[in-house]
Amino acid sequence: MNIVLFGKPGAGKGTQAPRLAEALTVPTLATGDVLRAAAQAGTPLGLKAKDYMDRGALVPDDVILGIVRETLAQAKYAGGVILDGVVRTVPQAEGLRDALASLGRQVDAVLNFDVSNDEIVRRLSSRLVCSSCQTPYMSGAVGDACAKCGGKLVRRKDDEPDAIRNRLEVFERQTAPVFEWYRTHGARVATVSATGSVEEVTKRALAALGRPA
Ligand code: AMP
Repeated sequence: MNIVLFGKPGAGKGTQAPRLAEALTVPTLATGDVLRAAAQAGTPLGLKAKDYMDRGALVPDDVILGIVRETLAQAKYAGGVILDGVVRTVPQAEGLRDALASLGRQVDAVLNFDVSNDEIVRRLSSRLVCSSCQTPYMSGAVGDACAKCGGKLVRRKDDEPDAIRNRLEVFERQTAPVFEWYRTHGARVATVSATGSVEEVTKRALAALGRPA
């Protein structure tokens, strides 16, 4: 199964991706996590991406598609992938289609996690992430260490108010048309309400994929 998780920043893609991965036994690719790890390690990829990410702007399509192609070529991903944070532009949708087609595969489903802008601002401004394994948490409900790996919890630079506003604008301008692109290109698309508990959203997502929990 090759599944695209679609939705605004803060819709819950990063929370749902590992849960769906476990339920479906399909590994995830989160481009944001790959880029943040590269930026932290100071690699050429990370240095190139950091400035875009800090501003809440999109990293160029060729950089993203390079990561996607490299990932899909790995044996671990031969049985499918859950894409979290790709696809964010129409050229990325086209590039992913071509990369999968060269492997005899296609996007099987696009899940659109739907949530209001007010809720997004509320979530992102109170979000902390593990600086080591990237697990997201809501501040207030946690201490200062990751429950999974003990890493330090930090606020992402792009979760500051100006960057949040920019990311929502970028979503409307560049990313929202991608869902329509999939609709008109024959993909199976489903919109899932992303409010409510984490467990409820997972149930809805699995039901939309025809895999009730
Ligand atoms: P995320 O963790 O998915 O919210 O991504 C954080 C940041 O990484 C985004 O605001 C972009 O700067 C960059 N990024 C991640 N995935 C993509 C993508 N598919 N296309 C362009 N930029 C991306």
